[in-house]
Formats: sequence, C-alpha cells, structure tokens
Amino acid sequence: MTEAYQGFQFQSLAGEWRAGGGDETIRVTNPYTGETLTALRAATAADLDQAYRKAAEAQVAWAQTPPAERAALLHRVVAIFDARKDEIIDWLIRESGSTRLKATIEWGSARGITLEAASMPARAHGMTMDSDVPGKENQVDRRPLGVVGVISPWNFPLHLSQRSVAPALALGNAVVLKPASDTPVSGGLLIARMFEEAGLPAGLLSVIVGSGAAIGESFVAHPVPALISFTGSTPVGKQIGTIATGGRHLKKVALELGGNSPFVVLDDADIDQAVKAAVFGSFLHQGQICMAINRIIVDQSRYDEFVAGFVAHTQTLRVGDPAAGDTSIGPIINPSQLEGLQQKIATAKQQGARVLLEGEVDGQLLPPHVFGEVTPDMELSREEIFGPLVGIHKARDEAHALELANATDFGLSSAVFSGDPERGARFARQIRSGMTHVNDMPVNDEAHMPFGGEKNSGLGRFNGNWAIDEFTTVQWVSVQRAPRQYPF
Ligand code: NAD
Repeated sequence: MTEAYQGFQFQSLAGEWRAGGGDETIRVTNPYTGETLTALRAATAADLDQAYRKAAEAQVAWAQTPPAERAALLHRVVAIFDARKDEIIDWLIRESGSTRLKATIEWGSARGITLEAASMPARAHGMTMDSDVPGKENQVDRRPLGVVGVISPWNFPLHLSQRSVAPALALGNAVVLKPASDTPVSGGLLIARMFEEAGLPAGLLSVIVGSGAAIGESFVAHPVPALISFTGSTPVGKQIGTIATGGRHLKKVALELGGNSPFVVLDDADIDQAVKAAVFGSFLHQGQICMAINRIIVDQSRYDEFVAGFVAHTQTLRVGDPAAGDTSIGPIINPSQLEGLQQKIATAKQQGARVLLEGEVDGQLLPPHVFGEVTPDMELSREEIFGPLVGIHKARDEAHALELANATDFGLSSAVFSGDPERGARFARQIRSGMTHVNDMPVNDEAHMPFGGEKNSGLGRFNGNWAIDEFTTVQWVSVQRAPRQYPF
C-alpha cells in the first residue's frame, strides 16, 4: 500500500491533480468539531469542459478493453477498500458526521457495490433475435453510453457516488463526478485516489469540486455526457431533469430523489420487534437518509403500547461524538440543515403534533424528537424530514393504514409489520413505492437488488442488472444474408 490518503487540496481534473480555476474556496469542515479538514479552490466551467473532453477521449480505448481487464481493475479497487478500511471509515466520520456504525455500514455497502460492478463486464451481453424478414439476421448489441456525469449528495457520499461510478466504469464508460460541497473527499476525491491506485487510465474519472449553484447547470448541459446520474433532493432533481431533457438537450437521466417512508404497524404485529426496527430505521445517521422512516402508522389497538416502547427505546440512544463506538446519533451535517430541522420542530408544535420526546440542541447535535397524533395535513407528514424527527400516526384499521401510507407525493421505500407474513406481503404490494419490506424497516440496500423510487422519488433503478441497463445502451444491428425482395 502506498502512503495514506491525506491532504486533498487538489481536484482530480482531466488526468491530473490540480487546483480548480475559480476564486471561491470550498472549506470542508468536521461537523462535530468544527475543525477545517481541507480547503479547495472551486472548479470553473472551463475545468469542467476540460474534464469532459478528456473523458470522451479516454473512453474510446477503455470501451475496447477486454471485460476481464475491467473486472480485474474493479477487483483491485475492492482490495483497496479492504486495505484502507480504517482510513475510509475515518474520513466518513470526520467529513460527514457519520457515527462509527454508519461509517462501517457505508464502507461495506460501497465495497459491495464495487464487487458487484466487477461482475458486470462479464454479465453485460447482447442477444440474437429472429427476424420477420426472410434472410435477415438480427443482433442486439450492448454498448457503453460514453461519458456519464454523476452528481451525488453528502449523506452517504462514498456509497452514493460509487454506485454510479463503479458500474459506469466497469461497463466501459468514462465518468465525471461532482460530489456535494460538504463531502468532496469521501464523495469523490477518495474514490479518484482508489481508482488511480488500482491503475485506472488517466482521464477516465475526473472529480469536480464546486457548488451546484455555480457549476450545476454547465455540468448537466455540457454536450459530452450522455447520461446524468443524479442523487439528491427532489427540487434539484426536477431542475436537472428539465435541463437534461427539455428544449435544447436530450440526455438520459437517472434521478434518485427524496423520500418520506411510511412504517406501518398492523394490529397483529410483534411490537417489541417493530419498536427496534422503527428506532433504527428512524435514527440511523441522524435520520439523514432518503429511506429513513418519516411516518410511523400504528393501528389504534396497538398505538399506546407501540408509543411507550418507541419512546423508551429512543431515550436509550447516545447522542454525541460520532467517533465514539457507542454513539448512535452524531451531528447534523451543517448549520443550515440544523436550522431547517429546528424550523420543522417549531412548525410541528404549532400545527398541534403532540411532543412525546424532545431535547436541546448542543452545537451541531440535535437529539431525537418524537411527535404523536400526527395527521396527514401536517408539514411533518408531507415533506421529507431528513433529520432525527419522526411523527406517529394512529390508524383506525388496515384500510386506513394503507390510505395513510399512500398519502404522500414520495414513493421511495416503505415497511409494514404484521404477525402474518402473507398479510404483510399483501399489504406491501398495495403501497406505491419502489421498495417495501415486510417485518423490517425501510432502510435497505443490497448491491444486486433494484434500488429506486416512484412518484417524486425519482426515475430509474440502481444496482445489479438494473445498473447494467442504466449505464449502457443497445444497438439493433441486422445483416441481410440473402437478397431481400422489395415491393418496388
Ligand atoms: P441536494 O439536491 O441539495 O444536492 C445534491 C447534489 O446536487 C450536490 O452535489 C449539490 O451540489 C448538487 N446540486 C445542487 N444544486 C444543483 C444544481 N442546480 N445543478 C446541479 N447540481 C446541483 O441534496 P443534498 O442536500 O446533498 O442531499 C439530501 C437529499 O438527497 C435528500 O432529499 C435525500 O432524500 C436525497 N437522497 C436521495 C437518495 C436516493 O437514492 N433516492 C439517496 C440519498 C439522498
């Protein structure tokens, strides 16, 4: 192993490590201690242009490398994940305020995605198909898209960047990645170093650090990328979709957006198990997860029992230094997110939600807040929360629980608890969301299972075969073997 991954004052631009050409400095801070971790000069549209052009040039030869060579590169990245496990986890804790538990989960899931991507060069295939035309041979060829532009958020920066970067490169594409400004290292520069160390040819992966407001539009509108793979909030995702597909451009988009996951407890549920699942699904990473439980919906016959258990279990969670092994709730990523959450707490109180548990803010730490008797018209139910707050709803019966679960513009993940798994599965199939888990909580992601949402939660699916479809295109090539008879 070469020297430790430290510093990160430069960006990975078009095959070299250098400063961005912008005047703005992007200061990266530890959200718990306030310590400055690094400061980078922001990239400009000219830096971006250079990265895209170099990517387009490098991609031509990369697409022609044998599948085994691309697979071997991904396997070397997996080996670097193993060799540098502690360093990677340390960056996730310091830069994104991840607890040690969450950082370890994220390390594991990003590694798993890389391993899955290593199998893709051998799995991606075309097909032959019969033709209606006598003497014609039909072939469906599968090809890389070319250059893929990836934009990722700060909450699971390594995982959410890697789930596009690894399959895109494995399938013969080049990538330009723009991580969030709060997490440019674990969401991008660390990944660039790992691929470089694994021997990825220069220019195939650039990491651009700059604010979305400053370079976001140029990033999407640039003529080179064939696909923009965006993970982030619904409003920004809609804006990106409009730029990419409206008017001047026709690019593919993969949009993985916000959520507002329901967690339903039916009258025959195992309440102890439901409580444990609900606490973990609500508060892992301080609730800053797109799949996090935002609405707990409990059958009225079990409401009091569930609420008592949920509040008692939540009270045992330790809030504090994310690096400490026994901390469950670390800091909120930045002051503006914290302010937004405090506003949401104030609005929930104003709108009549019953406070079941609250606590004082300390620096960037916000203790869990639990609200009871929440109704669908309240802001807490309608908007994505993205913090350690959760609302509990009371359902009259199963039909009402389903109505409440579906009373949302989002449709990412969801969960239902029932003592009868068949009843749970029947209920699950009526929830309009991309992912539903019976007798578990909604925060699930497996590298080979389809990940994505319905409604305002996005377009497209990640992982496994779905990523192969997303990061490739097909071409119908036919060969007329015998002279065709034309009508005139
Ligand atoms: P965000 O939308 O503010 O930012 C996401 C990324 O987009 C960042 O890199 C940001 O710099 C960039 N960006 C911002 N404005 C842009 C613009 N105008 N043009 C181009 N890029 C722009 O989201 P966030 O606050 O970083 O992350 C939280 C959001 O992400 C939540 O809504 C969460 O639900 C969502 N998310 C979704 C998934 C999923 O898989 N569905 C996973 C994690 C997070």
